[in-house]
Amino acid sequence: MNTSDVVIIGAGAIGSAAAYYLAKRGLSVTVLEKGACVGGGGSSRNGGGVRQSGRHSAELPLAMYGVKNLWPGLSDELGMDIEYYQEGNLRLGKTEAHMKILQGLTDSCAAGGLDMCLIDQKQAREICPYLSEDVIGAGWCPTDGHANPMLVTLAYYRAARRLGARYITGAEVTRLRKLRGRVSEVVTADGEVYSAGSIAVVAGYDSRKLLASVGLDIPMSPILMECIVTEEAPHMFWQMLGTAMADFYGHQSKHGSFVFGGAHGYEPYAAYDGGTRGASISVPSTCRAIIGYFPVLRGLKIVRSWAGWLDDCADHIPVMDNPRETPGLTIGCGFSGHGFGISPVAGALLADLASGETPTLDVSKFRYDRFRAKI
Ligand SMILES: Cc1cc2nc3c(=O)[nH]c(=O)nc-3n(C[C@H](O)[C@H](O)[C@H](O)COP(=O)(O)OP(=O)(O)OC[C@H]3O[C@@H](n4cnc5c(N)ncnc54)[C@H](O)[C@@H]3O)c2cc1C
Repeated sequence: MNTSDVVIIGAGAIGSAAAYYLAKRGLSVTVLEKGACVGGGGSSRNGGGVRQSGRHSAELPLAMYGVKNLWPGLSDELGMDIEYYQEGNLRLGKTEAHMKILQGLTDSCAAGGLDMCLIDQKQAREICPYLSEDVIGAGWCPTDGHANPMLVTLAYYRAARRLGARYITGAEVTRLRKLRGRVSEVVTADGEVYSAGSIAVVAGYDSRKLLASVGLDIPMSPILMECIVTEEAPHMFWQMLGTAMADFYGHQSKHGSFVFGGAHGYEPYAAYDGGTRGASISVPSTCRAIIGYFPVLRGLKIVRSWAGWLDDCADHIPVMDNPRETPGLTIGCGFSGHGFGISPVAGALLADLASGETPTLDVSKFRYDRFRAKI
């Protein structure tokens, strides 16, 4: 039986969150995932940041809504500890130029109603005593935090299944099909056809190829980013960390390991293979950055590194829309490296769009047609 109310392509955190919120409404949902397991994309490979600070003004209301209404109750709602800690985000600076960047970020977030301020060295060290003395100040958002991305993805998957959602792994969708002008079927690599009243493409960068099969294109690029995890250490702090230069970010996890990500500038030039390779290109520079801010972590052993692909949209915010050209289709992609922090709210909004409900929040800034040629 290959017919359901909604077919979702992609079992990441956002696809599974959408599946959960749709199944909660009593709709039949089929999730098609090309990988052998769920969550093998960016959703299980990210740094776990649940940040409102530093968000694009279009995304800020979503991030704030999620932190106020969804994240705090998510472990209870999904029936699994997702290791959500809301202990604030410190974005660190070492120079006056850094502080200028932090001032700009603080001003734009404060203008959007976020409780965020600039703090000096003493205040930053009161919050996190392990900082290098080179740190002269920070942007501070007390309501930011972090969660465990693997657990969040797993929790949404399990909760969606409990409500009856069907997951099919090893099902690579190769194209979407229109019938009488409506997108109502998807075809997989092994020739299976799945039909639904509503089809949602939530497949990261691969969404671009799928959308091309019904004449849509989203200006996105694949970017390869890396993370590391250290051996366990005695617990030191719960804050999420970042820097003005975005050269590293991370947190200490519940069991004591530090999870850090970072960038060194080469990331946009890695050839896209759609896979899950590790490149270890940015690990050395990430480590240098970490030690520059946290000398106390020098000598801690890295036990693993991994890479994951971002779906970076031309304007660095996602597309969440039902394009006019393609009735029956919902798009959710282009999360541009910061989709995990808004995964609950993005999933809920995509569920609204895929079920024909008025979205809970304004999604007009995420329309597909914002890229249309202006004539
Ligand atoms: C290293 C790294 C660090 C990051 N750090 C953070 C962070 O700290 N905070 C934050 O907010 N965000 C972060 N992100 C971004 C975040 O991980 C993503 O924005 C988010 O996970 C996107 O979720 P998704 O469900 O849309 O995509 P994905 O998790 O990529 O899921 C898409 C799924 O679609 C499947 N798929 C693809 N093509 C097909 C097909 N043809 N047929 C069937 N299935 C298909 C894939 O296999 C995959 O499982 C980071 C990303 C990376 C890579």
